[in-house]
Amino acid sequence: MNIGIVGAGIMGRLLAWQLHRAGYCVCLFDKDPIKSGSAAAYTAAGMLTPYSELESAEWLIYQMGLQGLQLWPEIVDSLGLLDCFYQRGSLVVAHSQDLADLERFNKALSDKLPVSEQRFKTLDKKALGQLEPELVAQFSQATYLPEESWLYNQSVMQALGEQLIKNNVSWLANTEIKQLGPHCLSANGKDYNFDWVVDCRGLGAKKDLKELRGVRGELLWVDAPEVNITRMVRLMHPRYRLYLVPNRDNRYVIGATQIESEDYSPISVRSTLELLSALYCIHPGFSEARIIETKTNCRPALMDNLPAIATRPGLLRINGLFRHGFLLAPVLAQEVLAHIQVQSVTPSFFPDIFSDLAA
Ligand SMILES: Cc1cc2nc3c(=O)[nH]c(=O)nc-3n(C[C@H](O)[C@H](O)[C@H](O)COP(=O)(O)OP(=O)(O)OC[C@H]3O[C@@H](n4cnc5c(N)ncnc54)[C@H](O)[C@@H]3O)c2cc1C
Repeated sequence: MNIGIVGAGIMGRLLAWQLHRAGYCVCLFDKDPIKSGSAAAYTAAGMLTPYSELESAEWLIYQMGLQGLQLWPEIVDSLGLLDCFYQRGSLVVAHSQDLADLERFNKALSDKLPVSEQRFKTLDKKALGQLEPELVAQFSQATYLPEESWLYNQSVMQALGEQLIKNNVSWLANTEIKQLGPHCLSANGKDYNFDWVVDCRGLGAKKDLKELRGVRGELLWVDAPEVNITRMVRLMHPRYRLYLVPNRDNRYVIGATQIESEDYSPISVRSTLELLSALYCIHPGFSEARIIETKTNCRPALMDNLPAIATRPGLLRINGLFRHGFLLAPVLAQEVLAHIQVQSVTPSFFPDIFSDLAA
């Protein structure tokens, strides 16, 4: 069976890899080069944090997120990736004057999670010091979510690209798809026919999906030789929420804003100041850190901020991955694979909401 995938962001690449491994003949199209591009996936922080997200996200994201967490280790193995996936957990902290925000976070988790799934712990200063000694100068307690993980998004994107090429998956890079539909897509004045066309264009699908919108996110990369934090940290703050994700060689990803705007312009002064002042309050060693990169992109989101798969014979559209593309892509790929294998009419997880698709 031949499958044409449009869009080589995290969803398109991972789906191509899983379909190829399942024995399908895959052809991938992207408007950008293989090694770089405008995909939101290149900007992401790579966090796999279904528990933390539950504070503000829907239950479905949590359920799928748990599955995503379980699927990533095997995927990383299949790509031969070493030192790119870390299951060390998250620490949620607040300064003494903001402890009410941390309590609210804990209560939201306790209220939403069944008792058997409340896999988080409140740490006092001593226990926090045993996990992350450099945090105790600023924080007297923390909430520890031990199962949460992160991966290096750019390494994963690169490894998926390399493995797909190495395994002879066809890849038409620098190829913008102007039109796609059941069984068929057009590029460079030529029509390509497939058993299935899968639309993974993220925000690039906007003209076909009226509900789709972009949600701006800004983040910074810093090089901080004086800081040794080995787990993800989320700062609860009444105004400036922030997360910090460790990367190689004392580098940290600091993010991220969430602004209802499809604006790809560089990070604003305000966002920079807010993120950096919150960062400096986590650890004074960040004062001598160097800002090595700032990034802005837009997350593809549907009106309910949930992912969706729409299907017609010969055409699948996957979109709305919003803040959770890395967390959810393995689960969505599995769902699409099952759908293609059994030719079911409706995937089990998702409502078929894209009414503008003609049957
Ligand atoms: C600041 C920020 C931080 C984030 N942090 C996290 C995080 O920590 N964890 C997490 O799970 N998620 C995170 N995300 C979300 C994640 O990046 C997105 O959910 C994910 O990238 C969406 O994947 P996608 O494949 O649908 O779209 P994209 O990654 O945007 O990929 C779409 C692809 O389609 C291609 N394309 C578009 N139009 C066409 C066309 N006409 N023809 C050919 N190709 C086309 C594009 O070139 C692109 O390669 C973050 C996002 C942002 C912006």
